[in-house]
Amino acid sequence: MSFLATRSALATTLPRSSAVRPQALASTSSLFLPKPQRRGYASAQPDAGPVSFRLSEDQEAYQDLARKFTRDHIIPNARRYDETMEYPWEIIKKSHEVGLLNTHIPEEYGGPGLGLMECALISEELAFGCSGIQTAMEANGLAEAPLIVAGSHETKMKYLGRMTEEPLVAAYCVTEPGAGSDVAGISTRAEKQGDKWVINGSKMWITNGGHANWYFVLAKTDPSAKAAKSMTGFVVDADTPGIHIGKKEINMGQRCSDTRQITFENVVVPEENVLGKPGDGFKTAMGAFDITRPLVAAGAIGVAQRALYEATLYAQQRKTMGKPIIQHQAVAFMLADMQMDVEAARNLVWKSCWAKDNGMRNSFWASMAKCLASRAAVSNANSAVQIFGGLGFNTEGPVEKLYRDAKIFELYEGTSQIQRLIISRHVEEIYKS
Ligand SMILES: Cc1cc2nc3c(=O)[nH]c(=O)nc-3n(C[C@H](O)[C@H](O)[C@H](O)COP(=O)(O)OP(=O)(O)OC[C@H]3O[C@@H](n4cnc5c(N)ncnc54)[C@H](O)[C@@H]3O)c2cc1C
Repeated sequence: MSFLATRSALATTLPRSSAVRPQALASTSSLFLPKPQRRGYASAQPDAGPVSFRLSEDQEAYQDLARKFTRDHIIPNARRYDETMEYPWEIIKKSHEVGLLNTHIPEEYGGPGLGLMECALISEELAFGCSGIQTAMEANGLAEAPLIVAGSHETKMKYLGRMTEEPLVAAYCVTEPGAGSDVAGISTRAEKQGDKWVINGSKMWITNGGHANWYFVLAKTDPSAKAAKSMTGFVVDADTPGIHIGKKEINMGQRCSDTRQITFENVVVPEENVLGKPGDGFKTAMGAFDITRPLVAAGAIGVAQRALYEATLYAQQRKTMGKPIIQHQAVAFMLADMQMDVEAARNLVWKSCWAKDNGMRNSFWASMAKCLASRAAVSNANSAVQIFGGLGFNTEGPVEKLYRDAKIFELYEGTSQIQRLIISRHVEEIYKS
């Protein structure tokens, strides 16, 4: 069959993006549990008994809500947003309306105050539909996390409160043109002048940068101090004079997500916009990752699961040498590996959420979850392209976008090398001789 004939034959059998997701594949973690047993995520309470992977009724309800939202609003529009690179405002507004945005803002500040576990279930579902849209939504969580970690009651009321009142987005400004992994190497400066702070410097690769209502900004305030004490975190209103917004960066994947350079030129910030104390900034910016890395990891699982789903459907339909390709062991074993990777990474994501929700320090688990889940996303997207053959390489097929979208998970919020650095430091500590 010619390429064109193959493509048109496939067009009738394969939707460009699968709008319906079989329940069984939707959550393999609860796949084999009869409904009544899927009660009470027992592990959510440390004293609640033996280890369990059951979701509570509330958790299932959030998962269902996100799944329906993804099916109705994200999947039908994902390709258009990818092609046009338009910012997904329409979807962000709808997600705000139904309560899927800003999910970890505490109730005190108008949010639903969900646990990390619930947020992870939502993130996976959204990313199954489009991880570019999910990143745009998740970037709010990243900007909000430093406020949750270190903001005063008044700062939280003002900046978190407004996020719950109307559909706004915010951004986390740490990376610079000259410093990404090496956060200690940032050169943005904030100087105290009277009762105000004045910020100068440039931030790079800032998600939501062009649409944010406010920014979390990390700046050096005492360059002579040790790295961990030399920085301070600020909340900065986006309409403050002196903020210059760069062009939208054209990225390989997640193309509707907005990434920009943001330059601060003599930007004046009031004292009350300091998060915590001057000198606490590094701790605040890194502490935020304990909340956000499990959720980025959950997004990676969404991509890995989607790749598995699309590849499995295709492998059952596509025939070569007289049988569906799923019956060729080489293909079947690729699917088996993809399934194992999704399941293992999801379990690690859930563990990192469980630890945080139970008041434990979860950095070790969060780094492992992010590293493993990112690898699963990249590897499953790669395998899906392989299983689709030529169509895998073509924009008419459903998996080339996954291949482009997956890679960023190994880069942002700490590259996979940085996660291994964190993990290995814990390992050294655990097995100290
Ligand atoms: C689409 C996108 C969105 C982003 N969104 C945001 C955002 O919203 N806010 C924000 O602040 N930043 C954001 N970033 C920045 C992102 O977090 C950084 O790109 C990332 O941390 C890596 O930093 P870098 O690009 O400077 O690479 P570098 O730090 O220069 O690293 C280059 C390479 O060297 C490796 N490396 C560096 N140091 C070590 C080491 N000590 N040991 C081993 N290997 C090492 C890295 O793993 C990498 O492979 C975004 C980036 C992109 C591309």
